[in-house]
Amino acid sequence: MHQPYCPEEFWSQDQLRAVQNTRLQTTVEAAARSPFYRQRFAALGICPQDIRSVEDLRQLPLTTKDDLRAAYPDQMLARPRHEMVRLHASSGTTGAATVVYYTANDLVAWADLVARCMHMTGIRPGDTFQNIAGYGLFTGGLGFHYGAERLGCLTIPAGAGNTKRQLKLLEDFQVTAVHIIPSYALHLASAMEEMDFAPQRLALRIALIGAEPHTEAMRRRIEDFFGVKAYNSYGLSEMNGPGVAFECPEQSGMHLWEDAYLAEIIDPNTGAPVPEGELGELVLTTLTREGMPLLRYRTRDLTRFLPGTCPCRRQHRRIDRITGRSDDMIILKGVNIYPMQVERVLLGIPEVGQNYLIILEREGHLDQMRVKVEIKDEYFVEDMRVLKGLQSRIASQLRDELLITPRVDLVESNSLPKSEGKAVRVQDLRPKE
Ligand code: AMP
Ligand code: ZN
Repeated sequence: MHQPYCPEEFWSQDQLRAVQNTRLQTTVEAAARSPFYRQRFAALGICPQDIRSVEDLRQLPLTTKDDLRAAYPDQMLARPRHEMVRLHASSGTTGAATVVYYTANDLVAWADLVARCMHMTGIRPGDTFQNIAGYGLFTGGLGFHYGAERLGCLTIPAGAGNTKRQLKLLEDFQVTAVHIIPSYALHLASAMEEMDFAPQRLALRIALIGAEPHTEAMRRRIEDFFGVKAYNSYGLSEMNGPGVAFECPEQSGMHLWEDAYLAEIIDPNTGAPVPEGELGELVLTTLTREGMPLLRYRTRDLTRFLPGTCPCRRQHRRIDRITGRSDDMIILKGVNIYPMQVERVLLGIPEVGQNYLIILEREGHLDQMRVKVEIKDEYFVEDMRVLKGLQSRIASQLRDELLITPRVDLVESNSLPKSEGKAVRVQDLRPKE
């Protein structure tokens, strides 16, 4: 057994349950101090003191993304705003997004969780770590950054994109570990092939891959090309960001840190718990967060608890890789997108007609979005310049909203297929591996 990063890592199930009971009480009491939960508890007649243990959890209401939106910008704060030292927001959203706040203690606890994950995969002080993730509101940037520094790695805040510069940093500093979105890892691999850049020029040992769904086959491709071990990393901004669940060296399921998060898996339609081991929606409660505690948050991510104990002897239960979502959110290049965002933009443009279709496709290794937009007859003119102008106006408005640039095809009105009943707005043509 390798040296643990912290004692919590090897706590027994009994120890974890005991600490969950006391931390749940503290969390519920803290939540009750936020305007949002105070109102909700009052409406439902919940008294925080009634929640004594994990057994009482189901008396608490579920919290949804819409609740977070309604509580924007600060109704979920359980402490005065001047005690907050950072905020992040869910990726791919602008304007009235969902915001998460951190106190100084919350940031330390989060960095510790990320450091614990990294350490579990074999990263050590002395490793050089390149963080190939967007810095900014997205939690994958600063989340891994501070985790890596806390662990004692030489940390390179490379940010996202710019393939040539990424390669130069990887080679010049003989980087040993990276955090990278899986689709970008494959893009980097094909760029290297095109440039005749042999992977042997790099010193990589470990890749942390996450932020978007990916298959076992995709992991193997990344491992084979770069000659690394690749570990699945799961998190979401509502639960700090990365560091919620992570693969250990066994690479079979992700240990969910049960001293920091209380996990349930429910049937997304009924809200009832699914039988142990069955697929359902992951619901998480924060156990150590003071700035913005969240109770029974519906992640919308579909997974299951894996049976049995892991050979690594960590007893934190493992979840399976995320197989999909129980809502219509699309993840493209690690950015979260809801079809409604596209619709909102399109319907604000006077020339746009009735129908549109979002097509997700893969070009090389990179996912692309193409939006086919019907244009009203009176605007569908012969003049190419006018149409080109409209096309780029639509593309740039979509980019402002989505933070990625889609291709836009203008089509005549009534030319897109009509569906009977619920409109099919998204066609996912990406290969399933
Ligand atoms: P964000 O809050 O913007 O960081 O996005 C969080 C969402 O990204 C999660 O709710 C998941 O849907 C997705 N996600 C994060 N990590 C993974 C992963 N390892 N596998 C699949 N999906 C992931
Ligand atoms: Zn394990």
